[in-house]
Amino acid sequence: MKSDFKIMSKLAVHGGPPVRQEKIYYGRQWVDDNDVKAVSEVLGSTLITCGPKVEELEKALAELVKAKYAVAVSNGTAALHCACMAAGIGPGDEVITTPLTFAASANCILYCGARPVFADVDPETYNIDPKSIEAHITEKTKAVVVVDFTGQAVKIREIRELCDKHKLFLIEDAAHAIGTTYDGKPVGSLADLTCFSFHPVKTVTAGEGGAITTNNEEYYKKLVLVHTHGITHEEEQMEELPHEGPWYYEQIFLGYNYRMTDFQAALLLSQLKKLKYFKKRRQEIVKQYNDAFKEVPEILVQKEIPESDTCRHLYIIKLDLEKLACTRRQFFDAMSAEGIQCQVHYVPVYWFPYYQKLGFERGLCPNAEEIYKGIMSIPLYPRMTDKDVEDVIFAVKKILLYYHK
Ligand SMILES: *Cc1c(COP(=O)(O)O)cnc(C)c1O
Repeated sequence: MKSDFKIMSKLAVHGGPPVRQEKIYYGRQWVDDNDVKAVSEVLGSTLITCGPKVEELEKALAELVKAKYAVAVSNGTAALHCACMAAGIGPGDEVITTPLTFAASANCILYCGARPVFADVDPETYNIDPKSIEAHITEKTKAVVVVDFTGQAVKIREIRELCDKHKLFLIEDAAHAIGTTYDGKPVGSLADLTCFSFHPVKTVTAGEGGAITTNNEEYYKKLVLVHTHGITHEEEQMEELPHEGPWYYEQIFLGYNYRMTDFQAALLLSQLKKLKYFKKRRQEIVKQYNDAFKEVPEILVQKEIPESDTCRHLYIIKLDLEKLACTRRQFFDAMSAEGIQCQVHYVPVYWFPYYQKLGFERGLCPNAEEIYKGIMSIPLYPRMTDKDVEDVIFAVKKILLYYHK
């Protein structure tokens, strides 16, 4: 690498001065006074759960992603579980998913007693490869759970065609992708069921929270039941009519308590007002990083597909370790010493001991494993200043200069 800096200072990990005194992290929520006010108002009202805010949120979410229905739930993992249940996934079924994701994308399949099947990812976009999905379809395949990794939409058109051809449910784990559009259509309106997470590291937060969106009334009705014990107050769903009085309800299905509270819904409604700005700011930072790393041969960045107008959740750099005299761990630790706390997204799911005990073996998805070995997520969140971004870039280049071969 060319010397961008006149003076090459000693790495902080070797006792030199760090790039930053105040540490920055790979992600951070943005909660302001408006959010606090919105939550306080609900906390002072009569209904802090099962009240009007959840309903308002569901309307707002459905409108935002141009879906007919939205159901708010307690977290993104619950959203995935509800979606799998609405799709009727059960014992004996196989469900194809990606290994380069948070464990919840595959755990939801296990919750239903079905078997996850891992398809490999594209080596450049890191998203599930439609060709690998096709190669893993068997007579037992019931559904595909795709993940819009880092916020970039998967190749929905190809995957939708595959699912239609083989009569498979398409469930989209869009925990990273609220605000993203594919061919101009919002993520949330594209799959049979789309799941969102509102954990504080995600683009908008409810503290903990999640949602499922769908255009299908039948799935919607199932989702409503699943997320509240399988209990109904709707007369037309009841089996033991005539009912006995105004107190009466029936449990007609084994569901869960996956409800969101009203003060969480109020927080999220307030956060959604900032989503447009969050997206714009995230895109600006991504561009700043892309420009900085374009001419850096030791670093590969995720390929962007033109169909996806991405609200980016994570920015991942992949080290070309053959060009460097360090390991990923050494690079990661050096960043940390410079005051920049990175993270790695993700350890391939089937590498975890729990999955190994279920019989999954290393080597299943060579692309995902190869990507995992070189990647780390550098800070990306809308409250970063241009100076914060420059510090991150400076630290990366400082460390590269030291370790380049
Ligand atoms: C965060 C996340 C989830 C789970 O969401 P929670 O709200 O934390 O339960 C699922 N899938 C992916 C890809 C995620 O990043």
